[in-house]
Amino acid sequence: MSTAIAILLSALAMSVIVGVRYLAASGGFALATRIRHRGLYTGLDPQIRREIAWSLASAFIYGVPAGVVAWGWQNRGWTRIYTDVHAYPLWYLPVSVLAYLVLHDTWFYWTHRWMHRPRVFRLAHAVHHASRPPTAWAAMAFHPIEALTGAVAIPLLVFAIPIHVGALGLVLTTMTIMGVTNHMGWEMFPRFMWGGKLGGWLITASHHQRHHERYGCNYGLYFRFWDRLCGTDDGLGDFARVHAKVARPQAGGRGAPGAAADRRRAGGVAGRRHLEAPLGQGADPALPDR
Ligand SMILES: [Zn+2]
Ligand SMILES: [Zn+2]
Repeated sequence: MSTAIAILLSALAMSVIVGVRYLAASGGFALATRIRHRGLYTGLDPQIRREIAWSLASAFIYGVPAGVVAWGWQNRGWTRIYTDVHAYPLWYLPVSVLAYLVLHDTWFYWTHRWMHRPRVFRLAHAVHHASRPPTAWAAMAFHPIEALTGAVAIPLLVFAIPIHVGALGLVLTTMTIMGVTNHMGWEMFPRFMWGGKLGGWLITASHHQRHHERYGCNYGLYFRFWDRLCGTDDGLGDFARVHAKVARPQAGGRGAPGAAADRRRAGGVAGRRHLEAPLGQGADPALPDR
C-alpha cells in the first residue's frame, strides 16, 4: 500500500472514531438529560438536527490532522508521545495532563475571542451560537473554520510536549466530556465544583451557559484563568429559572411549547440585550455586531 493511501486511510479511520465518539458522548448525555430534566430539549428537534450535522462535519475535519499525526507516530516515530510509563518520572504524568489542558485552554481562549470579532464571528462562529440555548448535541457544532482551529491544537502539542499515550487519552476524554456537558443545559457536577472556591477557577456548564446568553464574556474552555486575567469573566449562568418553567405543570406540563420558547428567550433575547450593553463601557471589539 502506498504511503499516501495509508495516510488517507488513517485520516478517514480517525474521522470515523471522532464521529462515533461524538455520537456516543452527546447521545449519552442527551439521554441523561431526558432522565434528569425531562422536557428540556422538547421543541428543539430542528436545532438538534442542525447541531448533529455540523458536529459530524467537524468530526471529519478533526480526524484529518489527528489521523495524519497518528500515522506518523506509528510509522515514522513522529511526535513525543511515549508508551513506556517509566520513560519519565511518574510525577510527570499528572503534570503533562495539566500542561496540555492549560495550553489547550490558552489556545481556545484566544482563538475563541478572535472569532467574536464581528466579521470573523459572522463567517466562522455564528454557526455555534445559532443554538439558543445549546444542547448536548452542540458539542462540535462548528463552522469548518472554527473546527479547523480546534482540530490542530492537540496534534501540534504532541510534537512539543512529551506525553504518555494513556495521559493523552485522559486529555482527549476530558476534552470530549467538557465539550458536551458545558452545552447540555444543566450542571452535572456537585455545587462545590462550580459554586465554591474551586468553581472560581474551573469552567463547567454554568459558566459556558453565560457565554451563550451574553456572547461577549466567558470565552475559556477548562479554566477561568484567562477570563479573569483579561476582565472577560462575567460569572455563572443560572439554569434554575428555565428548569422551573420546564417542570411547571400549569405551563402545559413538562416540555410544553411555552417552555421551549422560554428557553430560547433565555439564550436569545438576553444575549442580544447584552450586545447593546456589553461588559464595561463602549463597544467591545470581541463582540459580534449583529
Ligand atoms: Zn459553546
Ligand atoms: Zn463564542
